[in-house]
Amino acid sequence: MAQQVPLLINGELVHSAATDMIPVTNPATQEVIAQVPCTTAQEVDRAVAAAKAAFETWKDTPVGDRARLMLRYQALLKEHHDDLAKTLSQETGKTFEDAKGDLWRGIEVVEHACNIASLSMGETVENVARKIDCYSITQPLGVCVGITPFNFPAMIPLWMFPMAIACGNTFVLKPSEQDPLTPMRLAELFKEAGAPDGLLQIVHGGKEVVDQLLTHKDTPAISFVGSVAVGEHIYRTGTEHLKRVQAFAGAKNHMVVMPDASKMQVINAIAGASVGAAGQRCMAISVAVFVGESREWIPEVRDALAKVRPGAWDDPNAGYGPLINPQSKERVLRFIQEGKAAGAECILDGSECVVEGYPDGNWVGPTMFRNVTTDMSIYREEIFGPVLVALEVESIEEAIELINENPYGNGTSIFTSSGAAARKYQHEIKVGQVGINVPVPVPLPMFSFTGWRKSFYGDQHAYGKQAVRFYTETKTVTARWFEEDIDHGVNTSIHLK
Ligand code: NAD
Repeated sequence: MAQQVPLLINGELVHSAATDMIPVTNPATQEVIAQVPCTTAQEVDRAVAAAKAAFETWKDTPVGDRARLMLRYQALLKEHHDDLAKTLSQETGKTFEDAKGDLWRGIEVVEHACNIASLSMGETVENVARKIDCYSITQPLGVCVGITPFNFPAMIPLWMFPMAIACGNTFVLKPSEQDPLTPMRLAELFKEAGAPDGLLQIVHGGKEVVDQLLTHKDTPAISFVGSVAVGEHIYRTGTEHLKRVQAFAGAKNHMVVMPDASKMQVINAIAGASVGAAGQRCMAISVAVFVGESREWIPEVRDALAKVRPGAWDDPNAGYGPLINPQSKERVLRFIQEGKAAGAECILDGSECVVEGYPDGNWVGPTMFRNVTTDMSIYREEIFGPVLVALEVESIEEAIELINENPYGNGTSIFTSSGAAARKYQHEIKVGQVGINVPVPVPLPMFSFTGWRKSFYGDQHAYGKQAVRFYTETKTVTARWFEEDIDHGVNTSIHLK
């Protein structure tokens, strides 16, 4: 039987007493590589208690010491980069190059957390009244919780716990049960970097474990990334329990192709952004909107997609890997069938994809539809597979209206050589992350990851300054120091004198 994945509680790797297990499989072969325990309620309580106890010391740890922990951590992550990426590839099926990207985008957040001193600075105004100064300070919240999806097992945990812990909090992470081995290695390296016991705990499992964390009296803040249905449940339940919640959810990202764009750039960008990572990215381009004459490029986009070949993680010629599990593959195939049945034209069909040497992998080949209408499920729903849907419109205004009517607002991009068109698009589009001739505009950590509408529930986003606001309270101090004992008399108004 494959090895049971341990929990991490108070600095110790703990063998869970759970009897319910979820297998972790290699998506290219179905080989079971580990068993994930559904952590017991007592173990979840112990994890939260350990984080709560560690908070008492960590919250008063000097900011320089907190920053130095992150400096050591980012150095260790870089030192173990390739090993981590290999583990990540094996449990997700991502190509080695893509796994390295997943990790690297997380390391960038740890680098950013090294700046915690300047990021968490408050503000001061002298003489808000005569000889009275006002200043704000930021203080940590306590035990923060992170619930993460399967599709970025390095990057998304690293969006969360380094920023929360650098701010002075402690953390309980519940990674995806589908690929927990990468987050476990991240946690081991964090300990090796010198993280005191109790700063980071890891518990595993599904809904029951998440719900216990969501309703626990000692978890004031919840960060979630995953699907819309679960994100809505997390936001509702967490806020109902009066917690601070940020919930990043699903997406349907459109790329607008203007006829004045560089054709080669467009073709390469669409091919990479739509089927890269088998389309299992929340910022994947799943809809291409061809404006006017750019529709003539559709056959060439199709040909470029047809050349991208799925394959095993260590095949250097593979463009992407398998879907995460057989259910995801079935779901994607169902969408392809629905698209055909609804009358869309399937100009590239990856349903029957075979990868030599891997007969049991969850493969779906690049797939593309045209003549799609907005009432079809392939347009309305997040497919989360290597399926590109092409729509055709006559003007940029029509493209903007179409996208603003779509309920999702994670990412979008426009390809054009017109500054005026780009400026109009950037201003009018109701999507949180916009690329101008950049297909996957994931912001670097000096900014924040800013999904909108159905792609995000909450107020403060991930990493950057917004993460510091999310993971801290602001305290505002109004101070007067008396030089001599002057009798101002009794002041019964709220006017500062
Ligand atoms: P998911 O919603 O199935 O799972 C996410 C997490 O929630 C996992 O840890 C899982 O164990 C837990 N969970 C699952 N069902 C639950 C339930 N009923 N109650 C409580 N917790 C539950 O998502 P996934 O399939 O792992 O990830 C893919 C989804 O994540 C896609 O929709 C994708 O768009 C989205 N995503 C969004 C972003 C973003 O930044 N907006 C980033 C990455 C992924």
